[in-house]
Formats: sequence, C-alpha cells, structure tokens
Amino acid sequence: MKYSVDENGFYGKFGGAYVPEMLFPNVEELRENYLKIMAEPDFQEEMQSLLRDYVGRPTPLYFAKRLSEKYNTNIYLKREDLNHTGAHKINNTIGQILLAKRLGKTRIIAETGAGQHGVATATVCALMNLECIVYMGEVDIERQAPNVARMNMLGATVVPAASGSKTLKDATNEAIRDWINNPEDTYYIIGSVVGPHPYPDMVARFQAVISEEMKAQLLEKTGSENPDYVVACVGGGSNAAGAFYHYLDTPEVKLVAVEAAGLGIDSGESAATSVLGKEGIIHGSRTLLMQTEDGQVTEPYSISAGLDYPGVGPLHAHLHQSGRAIFESITDEEALQAVLELTRLEGIIPALETAHALAAIGRLGAKPEEVVVINLSGRGDKDLATYLDRFNFDGK
Ligand SMILES: *Cc1c(COP(=O)(O)O)cnc(C)c1O
Repeated sequence: MKYSVDENGFYGKFGGAYVPEMLFPNVEELRENYLKIMAEPDFQEEMQSLLRDYVGRPTPLYFAKRLSEKYNTNIYLKREDLNHTGAHKINNTIGQILLAKRLGKTRIIAETGAGQHGVATATVCALMNLECIVYMGEVDIERQAPNVARMNMLGATVVPAASGSKTLKDATNEAIRDWINNPEDTYYIIGSVVGPHPYPDMVARFQAVISEEMKAQLLEKTGSENPDYVVACVGGGSNAAGAFYHYLDTPEVKLVAVEAAGLGIDSGESAATSVLGKEGIIHGSRTLLMQTEDGQVTEPYSISAGLDYPGVGPLHAHLHQSGRAIFESITDEEALQAVLELTRLEGIIPALETAHALAAIGRLGAKPEEVVVINLSGRGDKDLATYLDRFNFDGK
C-alpha cells in the first residue's frame, strides 16, 4: 500500500484538485513549483534558520514520568506547544510564506476558525512585511476575541464572513472567492492538510519536521527510532500528518488519529468524521465529510474550535480506509478530564484539541515495555476562559 500522494494528487481514491476553472491557473502554478522551490538549497537554509531561531525548533521530546506511571507504559510528549505562537501551525506558515515570496506574491490571504492559523499567518506576514487578510466567520470573531486582537495587533486585516453558519467553512469559501478575484498578486496560505492538490502534500511536508525530529530524539532516548504508538488529534489533520509522516511506511509503528466526538457520536453534535462521514468533495478535494442524505455539509460540533471541521484531509481518509491508522473519538467531557490530568501530573496545560489525543492513552492497551509518543500540538493559554468556565477550582 502506498501512503504518499500520487502525481495526480491522490491518496488512494481521496484527494485531487476539484477547483473552479477560474482557480485552475493559481493551483497549477503552485503544483508546478512547490517541490522544486522546496528543494532549493537557499530555501532550505532560510527555512531551517527560521525554524531554529524564530520558531524554537527542535521542540523537545519529553519523557512524562508521572503520566507513564499512571498508565503503566512509557509516554513521551512531542512539545509542539513550545513553538512560537503556541502550536504546530507556525511550521506550515513559515514554509508557505517563503514559498509565496519566491513566487513573487505580495498579498497573503488565509482562513481561520479558532484564530490559531490566522495568528500564525499574521505573524509570518509581519515578519516578512507582507499584506495579510484573514477571513473569519462572524460567530468565531465573537467567540475568539483574544486571537482577533492578536491578528489586528500584528497588522492583519480580519474580514468577517457573514454567510452560512458564519464559521470556518464560510470563511474558507470567502478566502477562495478572494483568490479567484486576485489571481496575480495573491497567495492563499491554507492552514491544514486540506484543500486541492498540492496543498495536502505541501502542508504535510512542512509539518513532517515533527516526525523527523522525533526519530532522532527517540533513537537517543530509547535506542530505537520507532515507538510502538504515535498518537495525534485530527481536525483537518496537519499535526497528525506531521507526526505520522516518517512512519507511514513502517507498519510496526501504530498510528492513532483522534477525532472530536463532541457531545457523543450519536448526539448530532459531533465532529467524528471517520465514523459519521461519507465520501464527498469539500474545499477542492475528495475526502470523507459529514453530510446529509442529499449531500449538504453537516455543521460539526466540538468544544475545541480547532477540531470543529466537517471533513478530514485526504491522507487521513486514506489512512482510515486502508486501516493504516487507528481512529478514536473523544467527547468534550473526556477531553476536559485529560486537560486536568496532564496539568496536575506534569505541570503542562494543553490546548483543548491536544487533550483529545491525551484522552486516548487509556484506550491503547499499551504494555509496560512499550513506547507511546503523544504529539502535544498546542498549549492551553487560548482555552483558559473555557477551563475557568468548566472547572470548579474552589481555590485549589
Ligand atoms: C488547529 C489546531 C489543531 C487541529 O488542526 P490539525 O490540522 O488537525 O492539526 C490541533 N491542535 C492545535 C493546538 C491547533 O491549534
């Protein structure tokens, strides 16, 4: 079985580039150039030096002793939460902004849901002195005020998307519309392994630094590059794609993708795409997505805005269908318990998205001698208001 993308942009039967004719030249320009530019020595040099000195890579691989004792196995945390801006998303925006510059683009657009990708994009635009426009649903602008403030402070223009449910998929539609209208000077930075080919492959390659570092760090700490399990949460699937990338063709490493069950898989308020989704086309690629009988996209739900997406990237649809990855889903309540558990056992407050991956540890059945790596995709600062609202600390 082949897990990398083929020359037409497919992972098995998923992927491709289903774009309106008006967008074809933009997508084609990118497809023709991305691998070539990414392979250039001066591109690699600039990217590596920014990842090291600006983002703070390599991120540590931390042996979580008390968490390991609790689950009677060996748990390592890949600390993407320690990246500049607090999550893995900047690995991708650094890569894409350097690509945009080499394509001669002067205007950057992006979509954002919770605002994390918007902040990561506004950050690299400030760094590179490029104009930045971020589309965001009106509802999300209200829910995620601190991130809107960050983007404004970084000099980005946040444009409200007022159509549909006024959330992420509507913001994405607005960004695509903008791109169609400004094909010459504009580059669209997509924030996950979704969208038309070559985006899923390109974003996976920019995030693959996660598993590249993991291999060297595991070799040093355990004597083997390969753990028994790699566990990551999946919204669109970029942090998971990065954590899985260099293990895709190593079947003895079990890959575990964790989705948000929301209030429960059968509650009607969920984002567990692998369970609830059917094949369809969303935002330019064929993948699994949550939809009604007549093909209308279903509104997803999760307490965590970063997992609140009705599809998954085509790589993950393929990993699910081929059985290469194990898919789990975790409810809001289980994720919240995992937040508190990591906080109290290890002194690390994780993002709500990340907590879904942590909550799956107990389901692995990992043995005492086995090694589990959890990709700690982000820190919990952005979720403090939710935590204060949901937990009753009673002053302790
Ligand atoms: C955005 C986000 C996610 C979900 O996005 P993926 O593309 O699935 O990785 C997960 N964790 C954090 C901390 C995020 O900000």
